[in-house]
Amino acid sequence: MQFKDLNLIDPLLHAVEDQGYTKPTPIQQQAIPHVLAGRDLIGLAQTGTGKTAAFALPVLQRLMDITEDRSKKKRFVQVLVLAPTRELAAQIGDSFDAYGKHTPFKQLTIYGGVSQRPQVDKLKRGVNIVVATPGRLLDLMDQGVLWVNRVEMLILDEADRMLDMGFLPDINRIIEKLPNKRQTLLFSATMPPDIRQLTQTIQHDPVEVAVVPESTPVEQIEQQVYFVEKSNKRKLLTHLLDENNMHRTLVFTRTKHGANRLSQQLSKAKFKSEAIHGNKSQGARQRALANFKRGKTQVLVATDIAARGIDVDDISHVVNYDLPNETESYVHRIGRTGRAGAEGIALSFCAVDERDYLMDIERLIQMHIPVMTEHPFPSAEGVPAPTDLSRRRSGKKRKSSGSRSKNRGGGRNHQGKHGGNRSYNGSGNGGGGKKRRNRRKNKSYQPNPQA
Ligand code: AMP
Repeated sequence: MQFKDLNLIDPLLHAVEDQGYTKPTPIQQQAIPHVLAGRDLIGLAQTGTGKTAAFALPVLQRLMDITEDRSKKKRFVQVLVLAPTRELAAQIGDSFDAYGKHTPFKQLTIYGGVSQRPQVDKLKRGVNIVVATPGRLLDLMDQGVLWVNRVEMLILDEADRMLDMGFLPDINRIIEKLPNKRQTLLFSATMPPDIRQLTQTIQHDPVEVAVVPESTPVEQIEQQVYFVEKSNKRKLLTHLLDENNMHRTLVFTRTKHGANRLSQQLSKAKFKSEAIHGNKSQGARQRALANFKRGKTQVLVATDIAARGIDVDDISHVVNYDLPNETESYVHRIGRTGRAGAEGIALSFCAVDERDYLMDIERLIQMHIPVMTEHPFPSAEGVPAPTDLSRRRSGKKRKSSGSRSKNRGGGRNHQGKHGGNRSYNGSGNGGGGKKRRNRRKNKSYQPNPQA
């Protein structure tokens, strides 16, 4: 299927061509016709599937259809997109700019942590599309500088994440102010009961489409695990940075504080490093990201939430400095390397109290991650026995992790390149830059067994 088969108008087809897209992704193929037909829609898809274009393209086309007077003076907010984080909002805003560049519409991205002045000035000049995080949007609504009473299309992106972050009351307050007659699109990676309930209250007879990201990162990404004492993790990282060509390394820590401390320590150890997390101002985050993209900083230390939506090609290494307690995060994290055709390497540091996390991860990806034993900081507890992959995972999120089995004779595959070739077809984000998408375009998508 081609984009033109989706009945998109020329200004959008040109924009898509400018982006270098050759064919629509599955979520685009499935969602675009329904949105063009004016239907409410639930899209089960996550970042990396091309979901932004799946709603932005048909929304722009609908705007062309329904907007009779496109003159500058008659602009008012007709499309409202809500997103959980500033980074995602900025990315969606950029996408609307790119896909709408041959249309007359103006978009504005609104988020907190920066001065509201430029946002208000732009609002006054008139915009058709607002992409916003809920908090700042409500602020501006409360101040009477932003009106949503003429919104015709509402899009909630990463709805599950918004609810996780406690935005439901804000979302409800915003929706109260919207006209009842509108088109509502909701995108979410998962469909927990609270999201299902939300769709019932805010949508009218929605169609539901679902995809999972392309195949698995597991086959493309070289994965390694280091069993190490917690107190030695920093030394191990600097040792590896010294020994290997880790020119653009993304390091994940569990806490903001940990991210700050580690990046300071790395910088002191002569590895240029910056941290990004939710406590950093938007300006600081964007600067850090730009420096990382340009290669000015070698190591970016991030927390999971801050790293969502980071779209940087050519990350040479991802380091799980702390293993994630949400197993799916492992797949999200490692999917950030190995993009654009590059061979990515994902290293995981596993302390004794993280061994249960590792077990859950290995059960999720259905492979044993090769163990690196040749390093100066081995765990005093040795290497644990291999995970029994046939057992069910113990739960998505662990609160605490006790010590798992001590060395019961090893038996893990040590230092192999690839620990297995089982593919993961769960809800992980395979990353997927443009080139990689093309490289794998013949791969078929699998239905999401966890949806
Ligand atoms: P998203 O899931 O919307 O964050 O998109 C993930 C990445 O896929 C972005 O870098 C998009 O530019 C890219 N993308 C979106 N649609 C297509 C397409 N049809 N072909 C190739 N790349 C695409």
